[in-house]
Amino acid sequence: MAEVLLQAHELTKRFGGLAAVDRVSLTLQRDRLHAVIGPNGAGKSTLTNLLSGDLPPTSGRLVLAGRDVTGAPPEAIARLGLGRSYQKTNIFLPFTVWENIRLAAQARTPCAARWLARADGIAAINRRAERALELAGLTARAHRIAGTISHGEQRQLEIAMTLATEPQVLLLDEPLAGMGTAEAERMIELLQTLKRGHALMLVEHDMDAVFALADTLTVMVNGQVIASGEPAAVRADAGVQAAYLGE
Ligand code: ADP
Ligand code: MG
Repeated sequence: MAEVLLQAHELTKRFGGLAAVDRVSLTLQRDRLHAVIGPNGAGKSTLTNLLSGDLPPTSGRLVLAGRDVTGAPPEAIARLGLGRSYQKTNIFLPFTVWENIRLAAQARTPCAARWLARADGIAAINRRAERALELAGLTARAHRIAGTISHGEQRQLEIAMTLATEPQVLLLDEPLAGMGTAEAERMIELLQTLKRGHALMLVEHDMDAVFALADTLTVMVNGQVIASGEPAAVRADAGVQAAYLGE
């Protein structure tokens, strides 16, 4: 069994009378990709927000790298090794690709000010930014203005900015949204690479990507998990076919 990095136990999030996430449990392991699918409104983004600490759960427990982080703020959870991308971009469009990654590496460095007072701190930030640039496949675009690269490359840049914080766990909310076939293929290749050394959670509508990448597949409907397990078995599940895949 691969190393468990994140565990959610019966996480629930209520908005008034609506249980957007209803007693969801899942495990993320190093070197594995866990895909979460479900129709719009199923609770996938809310679940992502619970795992990153952007939303506190109504009930349930969240354990990251062996520590109970239930109710901890997102900065604390990020410091313990969780990185996420957002559906809404946080790229600075007038800055270069490199400047964006460099800023992400610096902004999320704990005690950045103290580090920056030391030359070796700056060197360490630059090294992390360089690794993220390379890992995300953007080396050739380093000096381009972020607003002028393609949509697909901007999504790669968002992932690079997350990687610059050196997370162990990566949560990606629909990274293939709005991509053409060639761009999607490049992103799938990148995600395949990122599986090595990271625990990944992928929320995605693109079923080709999901079945190409996922080691585990969870299906959510109305806030609840209706099936979870090995992707081929989940796909064959009659309840899943009826509720979601509809094929
Ligand atoms: P998905 O990402 O699967 O499309 P969401 O997690 O965005 O689903 O939403 C799940 C449900 O929770 C939806 O019914 C949505 O309207 C509701 N919801 C999400 N965020 C909030 C919020 N901040 N306040 C009230 N309801 C919300
Ligand atoms: Mg969503």
